[in-house]
Amino acid sequence: MEPPAESRYVGRFAPSPTGPLHAGSLVAALASWLDARAHGGQWLVRIEDVDTARTVPGADHQILQQLAACGLHPDAPPVWQSQRSRLYQAALQQLIGLGHAYGCTCSRKDIEHTRATQGQTRSRHTELVYPGTCRNTSHRNNEGPLAWRLRTDIGALAPGPIAWTDRQLGRQHQDVERQVGDFVLQRADGCATYQLAVVVDDAAQGVTHVVRGHDLADNTARQVWLQACLGLPTPQYWHTPLVLGSNGEKLSKQNRAQALDPAHALADLNQAAAVLGLAHQHSSIPQALAAWTQAARAQWP
Ligand code: GLU
Ligand code: ZN
Repeated sequence: MEPPAESRYVGRFAPSPTGPLHAGSLVAALASWLDARAHGGQWLVRIEDVDTARTVPGADHQILQQLAACGLHPDAPPVWQSQRSRLYQAALQQLIGLGHAYGCTCSRKDIEHTRATQGQTRSRHTELVYPGTCRNTSHRNNEGPLAWRLRTDIGALAPGPIAWTDRQLGRQHQDVERQVGDFVLQRADGCATYQLAVVVDDAAQGVTHVVRGHDLADNTARQVWLQACLGLPTPQYWHTPLVLGSNGEKLSKQNRAQALDPAHALADLNQAAAVLGLAHQHSSIPQALAAWTQAARAQWP
């Protein structure tokens, strides 16, 4: 018999195979695994390889081996986003049909130019806030390759800022229209973006709880908005602390964070656990995972 809906827990770890796991990504992996175990739930692994240009061949299998060495075994076979493009296509078609998504022919140069003529030069990280240029034009595919953007200005559906609640950070708000603008769902090369793929897959896989690194928190309002547009449920979110390198910057593949060596799995797990406030040292992986699961059940939000 199925457990009642409110007690169902499906979590996931969703690495991009742009390189092997490092100390930072292990924290997210361990936190999501422990949270699923603490809730008596299921834990899935999804390889987020939609952006084939950034995918490093072999990194997916390396990540799966590193997880296995840490005793973090998924409860179902992993899925690869590169094999699920039909799902993303279908969601995009649904949004186009609803008038929520539109084709855009703007190059980065065009966007910079429009923003400059509006006296807006502020950018957000490296992304420019899209000024909505193509919102009310109906570009067709025969005009050449189109990117597809999601409207963030649909008054009835988007009354002001998007709010969501993080289990650690509490109530969060973002005015997606002002701070991000209509964002890309599918690039001109036909590739679904992270935002579209993650929302479609979390729903398709029945994910109820998203546990991931703090660096991704800024995407959540966009994802909550996209869920609303597609009529999908919003999971619970918990953004875990980042691991900082000795230079104070977040560890990432970009600053060449060291790949974890499966031979040192226990030491790496102990370190990841410390970041999560589970400070005890343990001398075997099964013992450590069991103890942390107990602690997570008692202490976590
Ligand atoms: N694939 C994303 C990353 O590795 C994580 C996606 C997510 O957890 O929502 O940065
Ligand atoms: Zn445009």
